[in-house]
Amino acid sequence: MLSAGMSQVFSRARAFAAACADALLPPACLSCGTPIARAHDLCARCWSDLRFIEPPFCPITGRPLAYEGEELKTPDAFLHDPPWNTLRAAVAYEGPARDLVRRLKFHDRHDPAAFIARCLHRAGQALITPETLIVPVPLHPWRLLRRRYNQSAEIARHLARLSSGIYRPDLLRRHRHTRPQTGLDGKARRRNVRRAFSVPEKKAPVLLGRHVVLIDDVLTTGATAAACCRALLKAGAGRVDVLVFALAGRSEPLHI
Ligand SMILES: [Zn+2]
Repeated sequence: MLSAGMSQVFSRARAFAAACADALLPPACLSCGTPIARAHDLCARCWSDLRFIEPPFCPITGRPLAYEGEELKTPDAFLHDPPWNTLRAAVAYEGPARDLVRRLKFHDRHDPAAFIARCLHRAGQALITPETLIVPVPLHPWRLLRRRYNQSAEIARHLARLSSGIYRPDLLRRHRHTRPQTGLDGKARRRNVRRAFSVPEKKAPVLLGRHVVLIDDVLTTGATAAACCRALLKAGAGRVDVLVFALAGRSEPLHI
C-alpha cells in the first residue's frame, strides 16, 4: 500500500522532473499543444473556449441559473438533501476543460494541476479561510499504485499554496475498491461508492467541528462527493463545502 507520505514524495519527484523538462522544451498550450509564451497555461483560443461558470448559479448543485436571485436554485437542489453546504464548480466539462482533466488523469501529465488549481482558486477562494481543511477525494491504494498519483490531491496541493487553507490528504480514505464511475447511470454511481470512504479513526479528532473544502476534478451526479461528505460529517466535521474543477452532465440530475 502506498502511504500518503510516499505519494507526496513521488509527486514532488515528478514535479521536479516536469520542471526540468519544461526548462528544455518550449512552453505549449496544456490543451492543444500550440506554442505559447508562458508555461502551464492555455493558448488564447483554448482560453476563449473554456466555459467558466459565473453567477448566477445554484449554490447547491453549482449549475448555472437563468436568473439571479437569493433563493434561486435548480430543481434537483430541492429534490435532494445534499450533505454539503455549498457546491462550486469552476468550468463546464467540455472542450479544453475535458482535455485538461484527461491529460492529468490518464496521460500521466502533472502540469494541468497548477492551472486547474488557479481556476479553482478564482471560483472558490471565498469558501477558504486559514482554518479550512482542504481535503481531496482519495483514490483506493491499488489505483494510486497504478496511477502513481491522485489527480485531485495534486489539484488540492496547488490550491492550498494559492490560498490560506490547510492541505490534508490524509483525512479521508477510500477503503473499498470501486469500479470507475464512467459509464454508470446515476443510481449505479450512488451504489458503487456507498460506504466506500471513511476517516481513519486516529484522524477524527483533527476534523471535529472543522470546516472542510472537498476537492475533485469532475462532478457528474454528485454521488462520489456526497459519499465523501457523509464520511467527513460522520467523523465530526462541522461543515463541508465542495469545490470541483469541471461540471459534467449539466442536464443530468443529482444522484446522491
Ligand atoms: Zn490551445
